[in-house]
Amino acid sequence: MANAGRITDNLARVRERIAEAAARVGRRPEEITLVAVTKYADEEDIATLIDAGCRDLGESRPQQLWRRAEEFADRSVRWHMIGHLQRNKVARTLPAASLIHSCDSLRLAEAIHTSAHEQGLPPAEVLLEVNISADPAKHGFAAAEAAAACLHLATLSHVRLRGLMAMAGKPEDQNAARLDFHNLRQLRDQLTKNAPDGVSLTELSMGMSGDYEVAIEEGATIVRIGSALFEENS
Ligand SMILES: *Cc1c(COP(=O)(O)O)cnc(C)c1O
Repeated sequence: MANAGRITDNLARVRERIAEAAARVGRRPEEITLVAVTKYADEEDIATLIDAGCRDLGESRPQQLWRRAEEFADRSVRWHMIGHLQRNKVARTLPAASLIHSCDSLRLAEAIHTSAHEQGLPPAEVLLEVNISADPAKHGFAAAEAAAACLHLATLSHVRLRGLMAMAGKPEDQNAARLDFHNLRQLRDQLTKNAPDGVSLTELSMGMSGDYEVAIEEGATIVRIGSALFEENS
């Protein structure tokens, strides 16, 4: 219980900032989904978030996502897989996750398709992860590969591509982050023009604790926020 007050205060402040960032560019706060990233939180913290109305929770490690999806199965929350997903972890992740943000290779997309098909699941909702800052240390498709990847994913009946995800190269540098997010949005707009029938890239998952306001100003529809919800004083 010790952390509950701090977490609900932080959550209120983050929601306020989301609304203010949206208003600055003429958007409505309802257009933006807050995914509360719980990778550093404990079960009690997660319960606090759910009680405070968080319905979308994110984990970057598949095993932790499985465990927590099970633990909170009686609460109506959607789990988001936001970290690198190895193909041997796909089968257990699919039933637990409502959106996989981190589809970063065609081999992974094919594994998702095959596993969803074999398990008799509906098409898995995925975002294409783009290495928008061209950082060799980051996962994701190069921007120049994204169009071909979209076309390929559209051929997989059990994969439903919903948009793009990226991280800023230097989240501590607001101007650099803004440029990365601007580029991701432009890429999305360009891909949308050439998208096959039935593919609509509506989601832009971009923005973390240090840069979510900039991301919203640049068009984010999903922000993934961890530390700003849990830190001592923001
Ligand atoms: C940890 C993580 C986040 C949240 O990061 P914070 O800076 O703590 O808000 C967002 N996205 C991904 C992919 C992450 O791994």
